[in-house]
Amino acid sequence: MKDQLKLLWELQKIDLELKSIKEEKDRHPKEIKKLDERQRIEKERIQKEREKVESLEKTRRQKEAHLSAEQEKIKRAEGRMSEVKTNKEYQALLTEIDALKEANSRMEEEILQVMDEIDELKKDLSKREKEMGGILEKIEGERKKLQEKMVLGEKAWNERMERREVLSKQIESKLVKLYTTLKEKRQGVGVVSVKSETCQGCFVHVPPQMFIEVQKNDALIRCPHCNRILYWDGDRDRK
Ligand SMILES: [Zn+2]
Repeated sequence: MKDQLKLLWELQKIDLELKSIKEEKDRHPKEIKKLDERQRIEKERIQKEREKVESLEKTRRQKEAHLSAEQEKIKRAEGRMSEVKTNKEYQALLTEIDALKEANSRMEEEILQVMDEIDELKKDLSKREKEMGGILEKIEGERKKLQEKMVLGEKAWNERMERREVLSKQIESKLVKLYTTLKEKRQGVGVVSVKSETCQGCFVHVPPQMFIEVQKNDALIRCPHCNRILYWDGDRDRK
């Protein structure tokens, strides 16, 4: 019985490890998803800023095209100066040219403003791009670490599953069955240690005589309160 209990104790420890490995394994895809999301948000933010610069560049080109068309108009108007015959016509043409020139100088002003805005945005953008580079690098680092953890988790899982297989064959099937039933009913714990006369599964005191018996580890003893199989895990547990 001693050997059987020892094997069962090992099986329990492995099952608890498997449980926590599984919890971690389940968490990993969610963490990867979070990283993807962070990456997407970063890229989107920069993309919006780039689009804003592009849109201003477009505005600037449009204004410049408009300006040069208007300048052509001035040239043509000035060309007509030599053809005018009356003072009235001459005055009218001068007024037209003045109005065009005024409009153009306003347009030039506007173009300068847009250019200033573009310069400002570009400065911000290059700063942001540098920042984003750092952030994305960090995210990639986290992703790599996570992937390594996933590989290790898989390895740890497989190793324990293999050991579990071996142990399950070495333990009497009746005992495995009892343990499995208890484990399912008692939050994954079917075998527990006893410390200071207390069951470590339900934390209720066990009778002193039972505690003495448990320490021998040579009989199947179950906690009177939670029904779990009791195991003495050595002197180091004694307080
Ligand atoms: Zn108990």
